[in-house]
Amino acid sequence: MIEPLPTGATIGILGGGQLGRMLCVAAARLGLRCHIFEPNAHPPAGDVAYAVTTAAYDDHAALTAFANAVDVVTYEFENIPTDALDVIEAIRPIRPGREALRVSQDRLTEKNYLQALGLTVAPFADIPDAASLDAATSSIGTPSILKTRRFGYDGKGQARLHDPSDAAQALVDMAGAPAILEGLVDFSAEISVIAAREAGGAVACFDPGENVHRNGILHTTTVPAQITASLRTDAVLIAAKILNALDYVGVLGVELFVTPQGLIVNEIAPRVHNSGHWTQNGCTVDQFEQHIRAVAGWPLGDGSRHSDVTMENLIGDDMARVPQLATEPNAALHLYGKADIKPGRKMGHVNRILN
Ligand code: AMP
Repeated sequence: MIEPLPTGATIGILGGGQLGRMLCVAAARLGLRCHIFEPNAHPPAGDVAYAVTTAAYDDHAALTAFANAVDVVTYEFENIPTDALDVIEAIRPIRPGREALRVSQDRLTEKNYLQALGLTVAPFADIPDAASLDAATSSIGTPSILKTRRFGYDGKGQARLHDPSDAAQALVDMAGAPAILEGLVDFSAEISVIAAREAGGAVACFDPGENVHRNGILHTTTVPAQITASLRTDAVLIAAKILNALDYVGVLGVELFVTPQGLIVNEIAPRVHNSGHWTQNGCTVDQFEQHIRAVAGWPLGDGSRHSDVTMENLIGDDMARVPQLATEPNAALHLYGKADIKPGRKMGHVNRILN
């Protein structure tokens, strides 16, 4: 059993982006403090954090001081260097635990792990070199997608193969990074489940949301997803299976493809997730608070959905629409306080209540 942290305790967060920012706000509502560790100056989370350490992930002295200053450590992104985690874990617990990071940092490890749990994933093959890509394009076929095993996000590190002759150029685009080839799934919809597990093992899932991507980046999430009751149950059971297998503590995002043969797991994210932002205005307790509760050893809250919601991401120049969005009825605006507007950069989101 984990002793629940008392109010006034401090949660360390690795990463100071918008997810860290919204975790800080949720923690503050519960009387908990957050200390951000982030290499870049002026991170979005810095505006609302109790404390910020600005240091690199290989600065072991800074990591040691950070760990000593907090009661527990969590994270808002999965690509944290192993050495940094080793330094922290010698001093404070890391939640969710290391196994979730190990599995989700590498697409090949993740696919093998999910398959071993009996879950369905897209056909895939390891591509350690050019010769294996030739073999894989004939076994998996085209269309397919070449993806780097590590560090891919928002469609980055991916190349579509429409024809086997695209393989050579796709491999050049990967610049020598280890990759996997994935068969293209003919899905009718993309959904995700944001699931939470508390230290005692109880699991609570938010209603599955339906996701629409634009240019490889999440554009909207709408709840409820237009799927059958049995698929909704399947989605929740899949998420719970993964949480239990990982002995997970915190919030996990599970992205799924809906196909006539059932649900296919695309990927998992061991953290709060962009497709769960709707919960801020659709649920009594949102994904950020649920994560903080779990990490702090508190019981999970009531995450049932009281409203239908569409979340729309505000990306790059969408910021020009803010004055109009600020006057829109039934719309909750969430901005991340980022100074520089860049194409493809997530600047904020708007949650529209539909009922
Ligand atoms: P990922 O970074 O793996 O989540 O991929 C980003 C987006 O690309 C997904 O949300 C899908 O829209 C699309 N995608 C990725 N993998 C596949 C696949 N195997 N089949 C079809 N679409 C895919």
